[in-house]
Amino acid sequence: MNSVERMFAPEQQTKDRLSNASTWESGTKVWASGEEQILTCARVVDETHDVKSFEFRVGDGTPVRFEPGQFMTVSANVQGQTVQRCYTISSPPTRPYLLSITVKRVPGGTMSNWLHENMKPGSQLRAYGPSGSFTPTAAPGAVKALYLSAGSGVTPLMSMTRASIDLGLDRDIVFVHSARTPADIVFRKELERLVALSPRLRTFFLCEGIGSESDWQGPIGRLSLQQLSEWVPDYAEREVFTCGPAGYMKAAQTLLHEGGHDPAHYHQESFDFSAGAAAAEPAESVAPKNQAASLETFTVKLSRSSKTFTMSATETVLAAAKKAGVAIPSSCSQGICGTCKTKVLEGEVEMKHNGGIRDREIQKGFRLLCCSRPTSDLVLEL
Ligand SMILES: Cc1cc2nc3c(=O)[nH]c(=O)nc-3n(C[C@H](O)[C@H](O)[C@H](O)COP(=O)(O)OP(=O)(O)OC[C@H]3O[C@@H](n4cnc5c(N)ncnc54)[C@H](O)[C@@H]3O)c2cc1C
Repeated sequence: MNSVERMFAPEQQTKDRLSNASTWESGTKVWASGEEQILTCARVVDETHDVKSFEFRVGDGTPVRFEPGQFMTVSANVQGQTVQRCYTISSPPTRPYLLSITVKRVPGGTMSNWLHENMKPGSQLRAYGPSGSFTPTAAPGAVKALYLSAGSGVTPLMSMTRASIDLGLDRDIVFVHSARTPADIVFRKELERLVALSPRLRTFFLCEGIGSESDWQGPIGRLSLQQLSEWVPDYAEREVFTCGPAGYMKAAQTLLHEGGHDPAHYHQESFDFSAGAAAAEPAESVAPKNQAASLETFTVKLSRSSKTFTMSATETVLAAAKKAGVAIPSSCSQGICGTCKTKVLEGEVEMKHNGGIRDREIQKGFRLLCCSRPTSDLVLEL
């Protein structure tokens, strides 16, 4: 078994997750989750009129280990403010030397527009290491998969598809992608090429309108159970991975439920923190257990920088650190993205996360500071 096959082998993944996974085969240093690195842009690809892919080398060319479907957090100074946002690594882990993110311009959006306007070959960008659990390893034994995506939600599923094909995995994939118009289908040509290469991959595109492509032969409209049953009659037997706008994911979940698909085999990722928070419990709404706690204050010490600040038990550690002028990498503030994951060396916090941290990380003492409130004085590994 070669290194990349080992990466996808369920037994090896379990072992890797349990071990510190900080090396790539023969001792090569790799980019750990949450670790800061400088990326250098190698290439910019225009995917559609409002979507670009940016390919990066990491640090001094370090190969990067991640699971298909994971994201990194990029950080930039935009008009004097540090802005951090998560972007899925759209390239597969089978190509560990050049990572790509694929970014859709959001009207009025800070980071997406900044990246589109500023990232050129040779430009540098600060980023934090791969994170996230929306990966095929969530269902290691699954051989039949259904990928449902809409808009820029195509990115994690593209990484999974590319990885599966690069590895020649015996995974039967049906990829159903919805877009506004044919011209908005991200990765259309590549997906068509991959279908021609692999009998194990089938793709279907669904558009809301034809836009400028008057000879579009595909279906028009939104995903329905009837359409899905026609394309993927065995959908109920498949492990489903869904990513797209909140409304799309809700509709997909509802139609699969109506069609008798077992929710235990359904996985989804939201790019929209408010949607994620609606599905789970918003980290910001987590209140201390009793009102007396709201009067308490605690001291937080940072072990590396020797900084100290005091905070109330009602605040999240992240919010208090920001107030005290301590810059901690963070993005979602909802306990989803994992960017603010930090080891608590001494003391206790009450944490209510929304999936951004794994049990084994919690066992090792890590906490997400955006959704953690202190119940004692703290020493943080920062
Ligand atoms: C795990 C994860 C993975 C992701 N992967 C991808 C990916 O692969 N590709 C991708 O394109 N995106 C991805 N995203 C989304 C991405 O992180 C950003 O949310 C997206 O690019 C928008 O960021 P922005 O800074 O451009 O917009 P923001 O500045 O955050 O603005 C978002 C919206 O809010 C509005 N807005 C901003 N400020 C205000 C204000 N003060 N008042 C009112 N409205 C305001 C803007 O007009 C805009 O409509 C991912 C998100 C997550 C959580």
